[in-house]
Amino acid sequence: MTEAYVALGSNLGARLATLQAARVALQALPGLSGLRASRVYETEPVGGVPQGDFLNQVVRFDTTQRADALLQQLQAIERAQHRERLVHWGPRTLDLDLLYYGHLVMATPQLTLPHPEIGKRRFVLEPLLEVAHGSLRAQVHHLLATTPDTHWVRPYTEDKG
Ligand code: AMP
Repeated sequence: MTEAYVALGSNLGARLATLQAARVALQALPGLSGLRASRVYETEPVGGVPQGDFLNQVVRFDTTQRADALLQQLQAIERAQHRERLVHWGPRTLDLDLLYYGHLVMATPQLTLPHPEIGKRRFVLEPLLEVAHGSLRAQVHHLLATTPDTHWVRPYTEDKG
């Protein structure tokens, strides 16, 4: 059993419903248990392409799947949400990033772990802090205190529309 952390993001279509559907799909993956989710955050797009604000969230769970198999399952969930990938850094219905897979460190063209952008993305760090436990908590605290990212990130409440 390995503990995995996944970041969810959406800035096209019914963003909140997309995140909800992604969590339901994650829960249903083979070998997955104990899923915990952070709050949903609304966040300023990073990367300079003009586009709508994102909703972001981080989940943690235990899995018996290997990391490469898990990534393929995440990509299948993205495809099921009709993800559009027309513009690099551009809008997407659903983006799923594998942040950590236990303590595994690797870099192949398909999969880099831990995800290399974690420390540069406040929209990942803020929700990650809510679900991080063990030694990861202190690490994420430190990353949040030192990240150069100044884009805004705030908890999202549905009644704001
Ligand atoms: P993106 O457009 O940001 O979703 O990037 C997707 C590509 O990044 C895919 O081709 C993945 O194989 C690759 N990738 C490398 N490392 C990771 C990771 N830790 N989580 C998700 N995708 C990854």
